[in-house]
Amino acid sequence: LTVAALVERAAGEQRVALVPEVVTRLVADGYEVLLESGAGARAFHPDEAYVAAGAKVDSLDAVLAAADVVLAVRRPEPAVLDRLRPGQVLIGLLDARGDARAGLDALAGRGVVVLSLDLLPRTLSRAQTMDALSSQASVAGYRAALVAAEAFGRYVPMMITAAGTARPATVLVLGAGVAGLQAIGTARRLGAQVSGYDVRPAAREEVTSLGAGFLRTSVTAGAGEGGYARALTPEEQAVQQAELGQQIRTFDVVITTAQVPGGRPPVLVTAETLAAMKPGSVVVDLASGPLGGNVDGSVPGQRVLTDGGVTVIGAGDLPARMPTGASAAYARNVTALLAAVVRDGALALDPQDEVVGAVWVRPAEPAVVPAAAGVPGTD
Ligand code: NAD
Repeated sequence: LTVAALVERAAGEQRVALVPEVVTRLVADGYEVLLESGAGARAFHPDEAYVAAGAKVDSLDAVLAAADVVLAVRRPEPAVLDRLRPGQVLIGLLDARGDARAGLDALAGRGVVVLSLDLLPRTLSRAQTMDALSSQASVAGYRAALVAAEAFGRYVPMMITAAGTARPATVLVLGAGVAGLQAIGTARRLGAQVSGYDVRPAAREEVTSLGAGFLRTSVTAGAGEGGYARALTPEEQAVQQAELGQQIRTFDVVITTAQVPGGRPPVLVTAETLAAMKPGSVVVDLASGPLGGNVDGSVPGQRVLTDGGVTVIGAGDLPARMPTGASAAYARNVTALLAAVVRDGALALDPQDEVVGAVWVRPAEPAVVPAAAGVPGTD
């Protein structure tokens, strides 16, 4: 079976779906491994490292022609998708929720086998090794604390020096999922005084077990499908924004991580709250992306200084900016899913399998045409 990874063509993307260490294991397991030339370069894995691990490196044309399975980090661009053929398997974080789903349905309709890791049933223990959303969220949370510290104009930890004592920075993390908990842990290790917040009441214990305080609002929402928080009603959201706003303005650093899978992220930091924050405060928005963000006025990939002296960083792309570590974890996730669809060296996809059935983007069932009334033989 030939497994391939391509150059990731999305703007700013530096990750790669296979790293040499994982290639060594695939080759030992009997796979042929192909890399598009330059695929790992931006994650600091040159072509020679893949060749040394037992892979072949070739052009995009040659790789697409020979691959049975194409591994990607993000959804490949349309010009590449158009060249996938029926029966070929595509695995990646393909953006299979919300409006973006239609493009994948069309691909599946052409007979390409589309497996998207963002549909993984993450709470199943068998799926843990495949959980790319978690591995990448963990990178994002860790880097968010570092990005905030770098943009902040003071020390993060308490510092006692001959020149006087600096008090520790106060950090608030909004959304205590995988990224939020990692941000809390990292900010604590930097020496900040940290608090966390989430709409899910169950998050409280996880936040406090990391040694952080937990903020409360009168709005709570239990976890819905797949452990994700349900979207709040507009009324609940207004209450939450007002109550959080009073607390947010007392912090030096705010890191926001609240996502709604496939949908618009909720606004947690309003323009009014931003205007009330102290000059020199830093806000890092991990939910910042094409659909919006958690912070009014955050711009994807940019650092904006407000009139009031608050730095707002649109940081939805942090995993792409820690490419070596993020790719290493991703490659293990994606090959764990690969192992679930291969038996005895051949593809064997079982739609009844609870993991495979969930990640498989299948074309809609053919419409059942009702028998026309009065046709002989029907009644
Ligand atoms: P996410 O990235 O979808 O969202 C981040 C956090 O923001 C979540 O904790 C969510 O509750 C919170 N949030 C959403 N809307 C909010 C709002 N309006 N205000 C405040 N907070 C809000 O979350 P995630 O990190 O992908 O995790 C989603 C869930 O899945 C969590 O419950 C997590 O513990 C669970 N999970 C479980 C496993 C497992 O069982 N192995 C693995 C991964 C995640």
